[in-house]
Amino acid sequence: MERAHGEGGITRRAFVQGAMVGAAVLAHPGFLNPAWGKKDSGGPAWEVPSLPYPENALEPHISGKTVSFHYGKHHQGYATKLKELVQGSPFATMSLDEIITATAGKAEHQAIFNNAAQVWNHTFYWRSLRPGGGGEPDVALTQRIIKDFGSPQAFMEQFLAAAVGVFGSGWAWLVEHAGGLKIVQTSNADTPIAHGQKPLLTVDVWEHAYYLDYQNRRTDYVHAVLNHLIDWSFAAKNLSAG
Ligand code: MN
Repeated sequence: MERAHGEGGITRRAFVQGAMVGAAVLAHPGFLNPAWGKKDSGGPAWEVPSLPYPENALEPHISGKTVSFHYGKHHQGYATKLKELVQGSPFATMSLDEIITATAGKAEHQAIFNNAAQVWNHTFYWRSLRPGGGGEPDVALTQRIIKDFGSPQAFMEQFLAAAVGVFGSGWAWLVEHAGGLKIVQTSNADTPIAHGQKPLLTVDVWEHAYYLDYQNRRTDYVHAVLNHLIDWSFAAKNLSAG
């Protein structure tokens, strides 16, 4: 614990300010359901929720141009494709979570799974970030991180290594599984919710997430996300959600 709150850690005042910013963000309707990806809008599974911040709000770490393409073209593109694939099928009335669970590991439904999971993963990714993020998690989550990774610093190092180490396109996640916190990698569209794991945070490491800003420097991108954008209050909320 000493290390978590020592030099380089956040002061109590900074933490309180962060908590207040978090409270303001919580007022956004898109944040009311921590189990994001469930049909919380009441709309169809392929309805992409609005971004929880303006496209340029993550600058200078992620440019407005990157977010514009990533959210407006890639994320929306998966949703448009999902709608085409499920219309007129029994999947059309399911929630996104239900579609993912029903199609996971089934070769005949691979395309539906890929697009549904990518819609879910991206919505979760946008909520894993916030302007003015980074810092450290709350005390309860910090304790869990110390228990399972040794220290917040060790967690950051392991998460960075996992994200940088994803071969090709994929995702790095902090999840809860079987009572413990784990860092996991998924390839392409794969998602922890298809494996019974509870996602707390994710970082998209597909090249489209960082190439305009960082070219091939994935390490710099992940480093910037962890230090300046990651939303620990979102992770804490996911951890405490049922
Ligand atoms: Mn992406």
